[in-house]
Amino acid sequence: MILTEFKPIEEILERLKEEKVVFIMGCGGCPEGANTGGMEVLNDMKTKLEENGIKVSGVIEIDFLCQKALIRSRLKPRKQEIEAADSVLVFSCGLGVQASSAVIDKVCHPALNTITFGGITGMWQGTERCDTCGNCILDLTGGICPYTACPKKLENGPCAGQGNDMCETDPQRDCGWVLIYKSLKRLGQLDRLMQFIPPRDYRKILPSSELRKTRLWALDEEEAE
Ligand code: SF4
Ligand code: SF4
Repeated sequence: MILTEFKPIEEILERLKEEKVVFIMGCGGCPEGANTGGMEVLNDMKTKLEENGIKVSGVIEIDFLCQKALIRSRLKPRKQEIEAADSVLVFSCGLGVQASSAVIDKVCHPALNTITFGGITGMWQGTERCDTCGNCILDLTGGICPYTACPKKLENGPCAGQGNDMCETDPQRDCGWVLIYKSLKRLGQLDRLMQFIPPRDYRKILPSSELRKTRLWALDEEEAE
């Protein structure tokens, strides 16, 4: 199961500060098990947003947000609610936010941080990759993860090696920062490129000692003994 944790509500409100209407989407897979998902969580967020003057055009839970075909089919009847929203707030791991961004023509804000993959990965079979950075920034990068789309994990633009839109490490591979540029352009969000993304906190690469004390780690710890 992929483990996620809630972003602080202050951070979510800061990311949504320009927006009046938001659509809320949740993954019914791993977040349910990690207690960061489920309709109660989604409706609770709806209430919090409304208390802060943000309208919610709709709320939906989809079994696996890492499956683009499933997202497309489940969202078909909800088209109007999505169109009415300025952006989408997504409760899922980084794979789900990337898959959602790929099929929805709106900015997808991550509501969760992905902290570890822990093993089973839902229905994930796509091209999306997450590096479990513990501080998801996909809404700043057009839904493309800079830590997995760029082999150098550059956070603030391409290196000088990019040529013909391809990566200098592999001419068969798209440059991650060209993909980010194209995606932001599609979303009308090119001004995001001016926003400085702080360096990644690599201490988050290992699960914290607090997390390893929880029941989610019980079996793992038992095996180690
Ligand atoms: S920014 Fe990338 S590595 Fe970090 S949680 Fe999001 S998808 Fe995963
Ligand atoms: S060419 Fe693009 S993807 Fe490749 S290392 Fe440079 S910035 Fe990253």
